[in-house]
Amino acid sequence: MVMVGGGAAGMSAALVLARARPKVLVVDSGEPRNALASHMHGFLSRDGLSPAELLSLGRSEVKGYGGEIVVGSVTELGPSGSGFGVLLADGQRFSTRRVLIATGLHDELPTIPGLAERWARDVLHCPYCHGYEVRDQQLGVLGGSPESVRYAQIVRQWSTDVLLFVPAGFLTTLQRSELAARSIGLVEGVVTGILTDADHLCGVAMDDGRVILRDVVFVPPRLVPNNDLLIRLGVMEDAGWAVKDDAGQTTVPGVWVAGNVANPRAQVITAAGEGSTTAMAINADLVDQDVRNAVQAFTHDI
Ligand SMILES: Cc1cc2nc3c(=O)[nH]c(=O)nc-3n(C[C@H](O)[C@H](O)[C@H](O)COP(=O)(O)OP(=O)(O)OC[C@H]3O[C@@H](n4cnc5c(N)ncnc54)[C@H](O)[C@@H]3O)c2cc1C
Repeated sequence: MVMVGGGAAGMSAALVLARARPKVLVVDSGEPRNALASHMHGFLSRDGLSPAELLSLGRSEVKGYGGEIVVGSVTELGPSGSGFGVLLADGQRFSTRRVLIATGLHDELPTIPGLAERWARDVLHCPYCHGYEVRDQQLGVLGGSPESVRYAQIVRQWSTDVLLFVPAGFLTTLQRSELAARSIGLVEGVVTGILTDADHLCGVAMDDGRVILRDVVFVPPRLVPNNDLLIRLGVMEDAGWAVKDDAGQTTVPGVWVAGNVANPRAQVITAAGEGSTTAMAINADLVDQDVRNAVQAFTHDI
């Protein structure tokens, strides 16, 4: 059984499957989405661990049950016999009866000078992940999407000093009064840069020359699934996100998904949970096939 992607989703699935005793292989290119974050939060019993340490512990556990982990990138994946053929960038090939795609997503940031350099440090996207660590500081929220007003209202929970940056004329009267009612300040105009001082974010530059002092900026990135392999396999999608059932089975028999590749809302603990759920469903599917094969062989024998 091959898992493509060894983040929280893929490794959690690998652990459950390795314990269920099919042969397990994880191929992982080693770039989990939260790699740049120094700490991971909100994972019960693992709060504050570094993302790398979580995965390192997971790899040891999977190997402890005989699972194999290959560092590499899957470049081709397609039907082969009654299962799938898997080709890695370095030329290694594997075959598998079922495949779990847990390749995650990538965050596309707005192209504002200085923003990407501060990503996962003092440019953040998820207040649930890192809001507590920046509580009571001077927070900014870069807006401009319909969801940004609600996002600012949520970020407001972590500080009484929140400014929402939006293009002029963007907000409705109702939105303005909702923001004012919770003391969220407004900065209207075009953001032209993120400023730093001594390796800390210190402000936001505006096109009219204003510099607005801030300690931290929250920005909602565009979430893009790493779904090349799924597209090539012909998995049905909805706005880029693979269509799947509750257990992670896609519209292509034998192809399963877990974690951020199909669920943009999945946090680490959710991705791990999905990996576990999907692993049990895959195992049951393999057993069903084994039963069918055994019955057929048994019928032939008599
Ligand atoms: C800056 C930042 C901080 C975050 N902090 C938190 C936090 O504190 N708490 C929290 O719960 N969540 C946090 N998150 C969200 C968290 O990163 C995701 O929930 C989690 O990584 C999803 O796990 P996953 O297994 O689905 O994907 P990932 O962890 O992204 O793992 C996918 C893996 O697949 C591999 N891969 C991709 N394509 C291929 C291929 N073709 N072949 C082989 N391997 C491949 C990648 O290299 C990667 O290792 C944060 C996100 C960001 C961006």
